[in-house]
Amino acid sequence: MTFDELGLHPDLLRAIVDTGYTEPTPIQAQAIPVVLAGNDVMAGAQTGTGKTASFTLPMLHKLAVHQNTSTSPARHSVRGLILAPTRELAAQVEASVKTYSKHLFLRSTSVYGGVNIDPQIAELRKGVEILVATPGRLLDHLHQKSVNLSQVEFLVLDEADRMLDMGFMPDIRRIFSFLPPRRQNLLFSATFSEDIKRLSNEFMRDPQLIEVARRNATSDNILQVAYPVGADHKRHLLAQIIKNENLHQVLVFTNTKTGANRIAHQLTHEGINAVAIHSDKTQQARTQALAEFKEGKIQALIGTDVAARGLDIDDLPCVVNFDLPHNAEDYVHRIGRTGRAGASGKAISLVAPEEKRYLSDIEKLIKRSIPMEALPGYSAERFEVAHSRERSGSRGRDRERPHTKREPETALAPAQEKRPESPALSSAPVTPRHGRKKEVAALLLPRRSVTTTE
Ligand code: AMP
Repeated sequence: MTFDELGLHPDLLRAIVDTGYTEPTPIQAQAIPVVLAGNDVMAGAQTGTGKTASFTLPMLHKLAVHQNTSTSPARHSVRGLILAPTRELAAQVEASVKTYSKHLFLRSTSVYGGVNIDPQIAELRKGVEILVATPGRLLDHLHQKSVNLSQVEFLVLDEADRMLDMGFMPDIRRIFSFLPPRRQNLLFSATFSEDIKRLSNEFMRDPQLIEVARRNATSDNILQVAYPVGADHKRHLLAQIIKNENLHQVLVFTNTKTGANRIAHQLTHEGINAVAIHSDKTQQARTQALAEFKEGKIQALIGTDVAARGLDIDDLPCVVNFDLPHNAEDYVHRIGRTGRAGASGKAISLVAPEEKRYLSDIEKLIKRSIPMEALPGYSAERFEVAHSRERSGSRGRDRERPHTKREPETALAPAQEKRPESPALSSAPVTPRHGRKKEVAALLLPRRSVTTTE
């Protein structure tokens, strides 16, 4: 299958040639014809599959009839609305829209919280055909009447499962009430929970279900490995891995903001150029860190799930789970940052003894075992002793060092999308905490014999 065979607008085909894509990815090959035929689509596509182009290209094809060069805002109504959970994803999707529409006379912009609303209002007042938005900020614009959605023909919910996790359901429902009833609806989600199905029943007409990868699957292009290590030794081990494996661009996930800061500090101390990215950082600092990471100026970017969600970095070779996520689906999202669009990647997890249950949850979800590899220099015996002492409640001196309170990363920065009617935004952590972290004396689990096939 080629892009030509999909029957896309010639100006889109030119843009595709410019990007260097030679053939559609599976989600593109399946979704584009269905969207072009005018159907609603519910697509289960994991991140990195090329899902953005799978909705953007057919949407632009259909909206091409509205092209015009008029300066009158009245000639540039919003026709395509894409909702995304985070500002990073919204900005990224809009960049894709701009890339694919560069030979068309269609305008696009993105609006998200955490930044001054006034430039967004000015941009919207000039008129745009394609709007990418996070739900909270879009509602702000709707209430201020800086945008009118009565001409919307396409609605896309991107990473719908994330939006529900983040408590955006009430906002999304309110946004629906501003849309005309006749429109085409597309929903993209890495996972299909009951809530997602309920949401799709609410607003979609007889959607065609498209799934390119098994739900909650991880890509076969990603080499997954776990290193057993005591929680206290993780930072040191991480520095060793980055140096020994000569990792020049590594995205490290951690569950907490203070954790991210501490890791960045230690790596910097060990001569590795590392920066933390999380919701306490200003939007400008986050944008700059991301840009420098993409350019290869920053070697290690340390992020929480919220901050690093949806990041699309070409050819990212390696992702490290410094902490295992407590929600197994987050593991799929995290490691989906590497091994994208057919490239190979590596996902390393540092697993403390107390995190083994999360590893089991993950293995159950992805239906494969993750090989556990003991690194040389650590004694499996020491670990076993320490681990059994910990289990039996012994409080050896090595476990009595003070703990630093770890706060969970909240869904959004305070100045961002927080809305009083969405309690999940203000109070609920994205990943629940499970009590205080226990520390153990030594490092290793015995090597397990595992297979990597499904
Ligand atoms: P996405 O899943 O939309 O985040 O896309 C993941 C990555 O795949 C992005 O970097 C896209 O630029 C890239 N991509 C999208 N479509 C194709 C294609 N047909 N061929 C090669 N790369 C692609």
